Amino acid sequence: MQGSPDQSREDGGPRAGEAEERETLMMELTRMVQKVMKESSWWERRGLDCSILGAAFLSLPPAFLLLSSSHLPHFLLGMLLMGVAHAAITVKGTHLASHGTLSDSKVLKKFWAVFFIEVCGSFSAHAGVTGHVKMHHAYTNVMGLGDSSVWKVPSLPRTIYLFVAPLAVPVVTPLVALTHLDGCSLVWRLRTVLMVVLGLYSQYWLLINVSGFRSVHGALLCMLVCRAMFSVPFIHVNIFQHVGLPVFSVKKTPKRIYQMTHGVLNLPRNFLLDWTFGHSLISCHVEHHLFPFLSDNMCLKVKPLVSRYLTQKKLPYQEDTYLSRLRLFFHKYQELMVLAPPITELVGVQ
Ligand SMILES: [Zn+2]
Repeated sequence: MQGSPDQSREDGGPRAGEAEERETLMMELTRMVQKVMKESSWWERRGLDCSILGAAFLSLPPAFLLLSSSHLPHFLLGMLLMGVAHAAITVKGTHLASHGTLSDSKVLKKFWAVFFIEVCGSFSAHAGVTGHVKMHHAYTNVMGLGDSSVWKVPSLPRTIYLFVAPLAVPVVTPLVALTHLDGCSLVWRLRTVLMVVLGLYSQYWLLINVSGFRSVHGALLCMLVCRAMFSVPFIHVNIFQHVGLPVFSVKKTPKRIYQMTHGVLNLPRNFLLDWTFGHSLISCHVEHHLFPFLSDNMCLKVKPLVSRYLTQKKLPYQEDTYLSRLRLFFHKYQELMVLAPPITELVGVQ
């Protein structure tokens, strides 16, 4: 990992006009990224990611049919196929839908958010968009707002938190959704409950009627295994890329380019997670936080430009491997996931 907040101009205080200069860095980088956007085709901007999601849906019919097989390797292949498709739809799909990246149309953006987050992801679209886009992205690593503390469960021991508890994500997610409906109108609450039930019941019905499951327990267990297949890396990725990095006070949040370059970290490319979670959650998380309107493929396309620009301007471009982060979180679990993080002040650039 390179760069640390302590390295940033603690040696003297800000020069005159430095704040303005830093502000223009973000504007300059934005102009460069927008130029790449304008020069990109529809396929690059949206088509490729929509096709990956389409392929995930198309792999569901063969997955249900394979699950009807009494031949164990075929059955396991069906399980794997459904688990991978489910991860792509509920992680990559819900994430892109929450940012409105799947369409230009306002109505379609709303439709995809409800479809992916509620029907497929068993969560509330309203709570998902508020929590992820309006809090986590707007207040990245700001104490008590977008600091990823929602992922912390200090009462759990590290091994349970890191490797066992994530398996309960498919069960916990709809229950958490219910607790987030308090401020919503009755119509919204009813819609969310109906959409979540529709998603869960559709998979159950298909397992019984297409895959030929004979017992309720068998079908429910199959749903749990498929839905929990990527839960462990899902929890890991959510904490690895923010927790342990500088946390800011809401009163002294640095300018956006500093906030994102200090508070976000990229993991290396990973064949399986690139497809299922998307580049914006794996190797292009910094790019995603700087430009949340970009699709996964566009984040990957602007990555060389962004990393070169930040390095040239002597701003951090934080990267670390999955295993290195896992080791860090395992050995410093108490410090990172139980105790409150110290507040960082970037001297001279507030
Ligand atoms: Zn996001």
